[in-house]
Amino acid sequence: MRAPSRAATGALVLDLIRTHGTVSRVELADRSGLTAATITHVVRDLIGEGLVHEVGRLTGGVGSPRRLIGLDATAWYAVGVQLDRCASSVVVTDFAGRRIASAGVRGVGRGAPADTLPELARHIDLLLAGTGIARERVLGVGLVTHGPQDREAGMVLTGQPTPEWREFPLTATLSALLDLPVLLENDATAAAVGEQWVGALDVDTFGVLYMATGIGGGVIAESEVYRGRTANPVEIGHVPVDPAGPACACGSRGCVEVLAGPGAVVHRALDDPALAARLGLDGGLDAQLADFQRVARAAVTGDRAALALVDDSARRLGTAAVTLMNLFDLDTVVLAGPGFGVAGPLYVERAQEAVEAGALARLLRPVHVRLSRDVRVSAAVGGALVVLRSPLGRPAAAPAAPAAPVALSSA
Ligand SMILES: [Zn+2]
Repeated sequence: MRAPSRAATGALVLDLIRTHGTVSRVELADRSGLTAATITHVVRDLIGEGLVHEVGRLTGGVGSPRRLIGLDATAWYAVGVQLDRCASSVVVTDFAGRRIASAGVRGVGRGAPADTLPELARHIDLLLAGTGIARERVLGVGLVTHGPQDREAGMVLTGQPTPEWREFPLTATLSALLDLPVLLENDATAAAVGEQWVGALDVDTFGVLYMATGIGGGVIAESEVYRGRTANPVEIGHVPVDPAGPACACGSRGCVEVLAGPGAVVHRALDDPALAARLGLDGGLDAQLADFQRVARAAVTGDRAALALVDDSARRLGTAAVTLMNLFDLDTVVLAGPGFGVAGPLYVERAQEAVEAGALARLLRPVHVRLSRDVRVSAAVGGALVVLRSPLGRPAAAPAAPAAPVALSSA
């Protein structure tokens, strides 16, 4: 086996310190599998770069007290942006990955990216200005969108929400507007990364079912993001489950997304004029998530017609959770994304019933469906973490003055 590179060991140690807060060198060696000598070198480098500092001593054990180290949380900052047709959010995190500011912003609607990105950049500028953080202390922006994506080129590969989005240079354009590096990440994968960070899960292998305007999925396997061949894995929303079902934008028919997603629920609610009028549904594409939340709110407050629609969506999502568990041998699936903002507990209940009946892992272990700690921002927080964990998160060790926005390589 090839020895890990100096950069890789540095990133690993940095991430361990970020995850565990305050640790000793002995603990770092135990958790990383690296030798004590390597840890000593790596920690010395990280201290020299101003990323890590000594924070005290642990006494009471056998032998001399262990010196504890932690990240300098104020050394650097990162921005995470979750972009969706109906609702977006922006967060700023410190170097330790803690959220220090956040804002919900309008979705991109039917706007072309050339029109909506400058507005998004203004929101990011405003949020950063509000924190008082100097621009040169911001490492970069993690831009989180639906898939499929070409992450290295920084573009989405389908014409959603409008044809102009297809292969538009998203990261290059936003990078030029903000004068910051921008990395692209899938929203469901980012939610999985965010969940791993904020969710305090007791497992290192789990799946995420993500629901915003659409439905996506992500898997963390042994603490690592599962990437697949083209970095577009776990598109659970585009698993066809009814060949005779409605056509989906992806090219298939009867996908999970077109049968169970917010759009499907809203379409069926609009087919019931009495219900649509009672809930004051807008019916516009840009309002789909808001309309869905109106139906969800009615469902959880006892409207029987609304409950029937949301319950059907939740049962189908439950089937998707079983699929995810059986494909990846998971015992834990987390529901994340703004789509679970109102009726999340109902979705958890239905999905838990489904996995207890059909997930094969149940034969060996208890299986769990959990709701994200913060359904609305875990993807944006994950976007910021993607920046912190990338080569951008080690500014002193990076090659001098990259000419183009740095892309995360899957190589
Ligand atoms: Zn599809």
